[in-house]
Amino acid sequence: MTPTVRFAPSPTGNIHIGNARTALINWLFAKKANGEFILRFDDTDKARSKTEYADQILKDIRWLGIEPDRIERQSDNFPAYDDAAQKLRDAGLLYACYETPDELDRKRKRQLARGLPPVYDRSGLGLDEEQKVKLEAEGRKPHWRFLLPNFDGEPGNMVRTSVKWNDVIRAEQSIDLASMSDPVLVREDGTYLYTLPSVVDDIKMGVSHIIRGDDHVTNTAAQIAIFKALGATPPGFGHHNLLTSASGEGLSKRLGSLSIASLNEDGYEPMAVASLAVLIGTSNAVDAVATMEELVQRFDPATVTKSPARFDVAELDGLNKKLVHIKPYKEVRERLEDVDVGGGEAFWNVVRENINKVPEAADWWQMVEHGKPVIDEEDAGFLSECKELLPAEPWDASTWNQWTTQIKQKTGRKGRGLFMPLRKALTGREHGPELAAILLLVGRDKTLARLP
Ligand code: GLU
Repeated sequence: MTPTVRFAPSPTGNIHIGNARTALINWLFAKKANGEFILRFDDTDKARSKTEYADQILKDIRWLGIEPDRIERQSDNFPAYDDAAQKLRDAGLLYACYETPDELDRKRKRQLARGLPPVYDRSGLGLDEEQKVKLEAEGRKPHWRFLLPNFDGEPGNMVRTSVKWNDVIRAEQSIDLASMSDPVLVREDGTYLYTLPSVVDDIKMGVSHIIRGDDHVTNTAAQIAIFKALGATPPGFGHHNLLTSASGEGLSKRLGSLSIASLNEDGYEPMAVASLAVLIGTSNAVDAVATMEELVQRFDPATVTKSPARFDVAELDGLNKKLVHIKPYKEVRERLEDVDVGGGEAFWNVVRENINKVPEAADWWQMVEHGKPVIDEEDAGFLSECKELLPAEPWDASTWNQWTTQIKQKTGRKGRGLFMPLRKALTGREHGPELAAILLLVGRDKTLARLP
């Protein structure tokens, strides 16, 4: 069977760096194994799922360098969920419960007060037809729970039942099913919680490995039982640690500034985002990796640590800068042309080491084209002399040297006293790329116009 993974976001908001981590880890796993990557939209929640979010998610993962082999939507599969639920009902594994949230809450509190684990007591399972008819006549509607296989003989006789799997990230895992309540699979209004549709689709879509955040570890134990109840062999599982914000809070879809769309808009390099999203929270060093192929080589699921990792924008800035400083012109050409930055490769090679993000090149192009000279009063005379000495065309890489040699001889100025007035006149700034290169970019006419 082809190794097959899926990234299964709910299209109810924009994805953030933490979701990108899940997508990328799945993608790298698939690439390493020559397998397939499915983008599955978990859009069973009709009210909150939006096509705009789904479109944006696809755009975001493509920006990161992921091209899904298949795109699936849970909203296309409702009949399959109905069939699976019926199969479980017929087998006596999906049973109706009528408690209100308040009643459940009170039960839990009573159990806790008596020092018992707050596990659902399976009262629903004991109801006969007459009782159910009576409850429904009161206007109650059932929600449906899956009967976990954690008992000996009678469902009331719960016994320790370890569900074990060899996690591709966390190694051996074991969860006791007796510590869990029977999960609700179908709500009162007939809609499905995520648990059952996910298993049905994973079976139908031939998913060989479910790789997701470690907030799903407990779900995994229940879902393994559901796979088996539906007659399927459970796939492999992997659970990666989660990312938090720099201050340690969980990331949420509402954390707008950390959404992939906004990092893209802010001019970050996709490989800077991907490098950080993947390598943070592993025992590997966090480096700026230039290509996805290299990231595939670097990434080893077994290096992912167990504790949450903090995502810090300052770290992203550092990685981004490193990538931009060595970025070949052919990789930025279109982006520069789109924002009318001219100057071609010569300009890019000069400015790239002076910027942290590609869009900042526009600012330096503005300087080349329309820079306003800054001339201190005490330098005006010196700069007029420089103007007189400006070599005639044609210019080449040695022009700056020729010019400044003459200036030194004529004026006796050297070092900062010579360079800073020229830099401020030519660029309007005190820092920036090498002046020899700037001079060529600005050209003779504009240089003359910037000198007094
Ligand atoms: N839609 C689920 C989530 O975003 C998917 C979890 C899973 O990968 O199974 O949490």
